Amino acid sequence: ELPPIQGYVVFNDVTFGYKKDQPIFENLSFRVRSGETIALVGPTGSGKSTIINLMTRFYDVDDGEILVDGIDIRKVTLNSLRNEIGIMLQDTFIFSGTIIENIRLGKLDATEEEIIRAAKIVRAHDFIIALKDGYRTVVKERGSTLSAGQRQLISFARTLLADPKVLILDEATSSIDTQTEMLLQEGLDRLLEGRTAFIIAHRLSTIKNSSRIFYIADKKIRESGSHDEL
Ligand code: ATP
Ligand code: MG
Repeated sequence: ELPPIQGYVVFNDVTFGYKKDQPIFENLSFRVRSGETIALVGPTGSGKSTIINLMTRFYDVDDGEILVDGIDIRKVTLNSLRNEIGIMLQDTFIFSGTIIENIRLGKLDATEEEIIRAAKIVRAHDFIIALKDGYRTVVKERGSTLSAGQRQLISFARTLLADPKVLILDEATSSIDTQTEMLLQEGLDRLLEGRTAFIIAHRLSTIKNSSRIFYIADKKIRESGSHDEL
């Protein structure tokens, strides 16, 4: 079991390839303090998603180690690891059901009060109560009941309930208007409070708001302190 963690993440000399003799990373090392927001940027195919695959142990490193709060992630159960390291993917998963049920997916025993509180924190509440049936509005897995931005806000609320200490976010690329972008940034800022986050960033506003930027290229990471230094 992984005990409750602070969210301190270390890669020590990590070498990994999906195929033998074709490494994606060679001797990759970095340290992320608890509470930092890291923007992962880099060309397509550079290995951004691979970092996520390694942290969540969908794949194991060939060499080196990944530590969370000083514990080698290979030494804890997958279940406890994935309770503490949450992923929010680009394509927000919405299933056919009510909005309240969709948010509850983050914590199955959450009360209605808790769900509404979470939605308020991440700025999802206002659009939800503006819908005809509010939290009881039925949404469809596919289809256009909700906009891309609204789907993101629902997944923010869901993730807040799940409360992982380390959060990995593959930001959606879908085009949204400036007003929605500001709302999402606000919701995201609230969601990230007190968590360590890795964001595969597509939006400039996300990159601007991160504490450090990791630029991935040539099997390594080039780091830059902040957006201004790029
Ligand atoms: P993008 O910006 O397009 O999402 P990325 O930076 O996330 O790219 P990765 O998905 O990490 O890139 O891929 C890194 C390299 O590993 C690519 O060359 C890709 O083809 C390869 N790759 C990714 N996933 C697998 C896999 N499951 N099996 C084999 N090769 C893979
Ligand atoms: Mg990717």
